[in-house]
Amino acid sequence: MKKLGFGGMRLPRLVENDPKSIDQAQVNEMADHFINQGFTYFDTAYPYHQGLSEGAFKKAVVDRYPREAFLLADKMPTFSVFKTEDYERFFNEQLERCGVEYFDYYLLHNLGEKNYASSVKLGGFEFMKKLKEEGKAKHIGFSFHDKAELLDEILTKHPEMEFVQLQLNYIDWESESIQSRKCYEVARKHNKPVIVMEPIKGGGLANPPEKAQELFKAYNKEMSYASWAIRYVASLEGVMMVLSGMNSFNQLKDNTAYMSDFKPLNEEEKEIILKVVDIINESIAIPCTNCQYCVDDCPKKINIPAYFSVYNSYHLYGDRNFPAMHYDRQSHGRGKASECIECKACERHCPQHILITEKLKLVAGAFEK
Ligand code: SF4
Ligand code: SF4
Repeated sequence: MKKLGFGGMRLPRLVENDPKSIDQAQVNEMADHFINQGFTYFDTAYPYHQGLSEGAFKKAVVDRYPREAFLLADKMPTFSVFKTEDYERFFNEQLERCGVEYFDYYLLHNLGEKNYASSVKLGGFEFMKKLKEEGKAKHIGFSFHDKAELLDEILTKHPEMEFVQLQLNYIDWESESIQSRKCYEVARKHNKPVIVMEPIKGGGLANPPEKAQELFKAYNKEMSYASWAIRYVASLEGVMMVLSGMNSFNQLKDNTAYMSDFKPLNEEEKEIILKVVDIINESIAIPCTNCQYCVDDCPKKINIPAYFSVYNSYHLYGDRNFPAMHYDRQSHGRGKASECIECKACERHCPQHILITEKLKLVAGAFEK
């Protein structure tokens, strides 16, 4: 199995600010190229694109290819399960949204302290075992966004989980909040294959600071910045799949080109990445991956990830004009950063453990003067 998976969280859009406006024609074209190049793995989830990602893959892949031509992964939205019957309801709805009779990989989505506790209490693990026994999920596992210690506990108590999906990338490798390396080591200790999410850190590593770009280009002018990030995690032993949320045909073409005949990083390339990590660590202000989990519950409709993105750009490149312009555009018709009432509904959802309320103050200070 080739190690690149097509992530359905950031599909191309017709309208930049509207996650529901999926560019289906482009998704179809991308899926065709992906499959024609010998790739098979598609990853989606209930909330992606406000509920439309699963249907987009149905139209692009399920309706147009024989079932054995692709592998489909989907996830139980643990954060929306409040009673045991919800598992069955969500799962059946997902089969229908995707137009399939089974999933090749099925995950409990976003386990951390809170969702793990509710999954234990409501019978989420029993439900997963039942799916596997019934053949409705060929492989069962979970995605995880918390500390390595909790991952160890889950894998110890639930050896029936066959794989884990982790946020691994070269910039979070030693991060204390994400703990990429520590989580990876726990998965290895339990002999669980790893599926990697956020290898490019929400797109951030596709556009590293200028000093880092110079280092990469000096080594090889042809290699994209994203390719370094994807090859970094694909080179790790035990990684079975690297998901990339590709939002254009060009990105997909680039990714499939170097992953068709994947070559692990050599020692010199690893050294370059270590230097790049130092450069980036000096410049990222807010480690947001644009997952959007925080957005829906905000009573002020604050466009949190968009504001963080413009703030990071301002912090990285030092120019205030363009980010300020983007800030005005992004805040049109939505709450400004200064309108945050500090209810913290958003912070409960953030897999990156960002103190959103504090960071919004920085944003307001930078762009609302
Ligand atoms: S703390 Fe602020 S940004 Fe977060 S949900 Fe509440 S109002 Fe929205
Ligand atoms: S602030 Fe956190 S939850 Fe919101 S988009 Fe960024 S990483 Fe995701």
